[in-house]
Amino acid sequence: MTKEKINLLIVDDEEQFLESISKRLEVRDFKVVAVNRGEKAIEAARTHPIDIALVDLKMPGINGEQTLEALKKEHKWMEVVILTGHGSTDSAVDCTRKGAYHYLQKPCELDKLLSVLTEAYKKRVMNKMKIKQDRMDEVLSMAKSESPMAILRRIKELDKEEQ
Ligand SMILES: [Mg+2]
Repeated sequence: MTKEKINLLIVDDEEQFLESISKRLEVRDFKVVAVNRGEKAIEAARTHPIDIALVDLKMPGINGEQTLEALKKEHKWMEVVILTGHGSTDSAVDCTRKGAYHYLQKPCELDKLLSVLTEAYKKRVMNKMKIKQDRMDEVLSMAKSESPMAILRRIKELDKEEQ
């Protein structure tokens, strides 16, 4: 069986951070498209299949909030997670109102990031497949381990079964 991966778009203007986070997620079942500008993220989402976007807030050109809005407008089922070094309660509220799934502050531990990305992916599959929470819980209880990756794999299988 081919190993399915979660398609993740990462946009961040800090090139070093972008490179290191991409590498760390690439080895954990994510197929990463990494770009350094909001404009490029919007473009990349039009040409690549993307499940989840991880978006920085402060960037030259189109900022993270505008990128979030554009992505949510063009891609009905995409979940967007904000990861910022310049967080505030106000912007967290704004981003959530504009459809962000979650709002994380840098530095963020990898385990925390993985669990939020897993939940975001779960939400995407539930919305897209119109699966209710109890059915999802039932399916996930069949996953052999509680690790985020095992859960992701199980959700991905479900995604295929229902298509
Ligand atoms: Mg930035």
